Amino acid sequence: MADTHSGSSNKLKNKLNMKAIVFEGAHRLSTQNVADPVCGANDVVVRVTQAGICGTDLHIFRGEYLSAFPLIPGHEFVGRVAEVGSQVHTFKVGDRVVGDPNLACGECEFCRSLQPNHCRNWQGIGITQPGAFAEYVAMPARAVYRVPDEISDTAAAFIEPLSCVVYALGHIRVRAGDDVLLYGAGPMGLLLTQALHHSGAARVVVVEPNAQRAALAKQVGADIVLTPQEAAALAQDPGEFHVVVEATGVPAVIQRALDHLRPGGQYLQFGVAPIGTTVAWDPYRIFKNDWSVHGSFALSFTFQPAIRWLKSRALDVELLVSHVLPLSDFESGFAAFMRGDSLKVHLRP
Ligand SMILES: [Zn+2]
Ligand SMILES: [Zn+2]
Repeated sequence: MADTHSGSSNKLKNKLNMKAIVFEGAHRLSTQNVADPVCGANDVVVRVTQAGICGTDLHIFRGEYLSAFPLIPGHEFVGRVAEVGSQVHTFKVGDRVVGDPNLACGECEFCRSLQPNHCRNWQGIGITQPGAFAEYVAMPARAVYRVPDEISDTAAAFIEPLSCVVYALGHIRVRAGDDVLLYGAGPMGLLLTQALHHSGAARVVVVEPNAQRAALAKQVGADIVLTPQEAAALAQDPGEFHVVVEATGVPAVIQRALDHLRPGGQYLQFGVAPIGTTVAWDPYRIFKNDWSVHGSFALSFTFQPAIRWLKSRALDVELLVSHVLPLSDFESGFAAFMRGDSLKVHLRP
């Protein structure tokens, strides 16, 4: 293997012709040949082997997110190190890695309060900087993690979303024997189902109208799957659940979600509701019932537990993938994702 630390001896050969998906503006995308990423002194360039499409990509495409155009999207990925910056001594060419797309400055008040997900100067790979729906992506080496051999490429592309689940569950406490209700069995809901199943809950009850997703929820650890109508019939005062996790982001669902909580219950808002929507909760009930209400944004130092969890093979993430496509089929995969007749769509650039 070539000397991996010199930085100059292992430059990529073709600097101007990698293939990438480019969001040119809201609702406009194309497949283009663009310049290969430049490897800064503290960076690695990763040859992307597999990348997942996520709801955030859809928000970006619709112009509903903080991203500026043009942008190469893609923030859930695995690949092999192809180039190493001159100051990087922790990785070598050929290492199989994932990257935490959340780049914090390390200097602002929130970074210095161990809250890098709230960094004032936050940048995101595939969100504000070129992402992984491309043959190569550049990352600061400090945001890169090695992938153990036990984790397949398909599973490794779930490390980023699973890190968000691990971070979210850190906000609540699922006690042994708790009854947990989860709204939504999309790809994130199906990760949450498994994580909750392994967290000591007596019952994980999932609410999901889509029959195929409901069946998958059962397969990965839901004890009971209810339709929204059946769940509505369960709502009472007091409710029967110690924990309610909302993973749909639908305001009408959020409006009723607290109706399932026992006194002392914990509510976790995981789903992303459209910015600016409101629900009407009776604050007296929150007060009277000792309820706690939690939010969870992205992730914070949770790549390593997510990697350990996937390495243990306790979670089955490969069955959440409905499509594996070459980059050239991005548009058809993205269209299926937009229509909602897919689960996780993976690209192999
Ligand atoms: Zn994502
Ligand atoms: Zn910061």
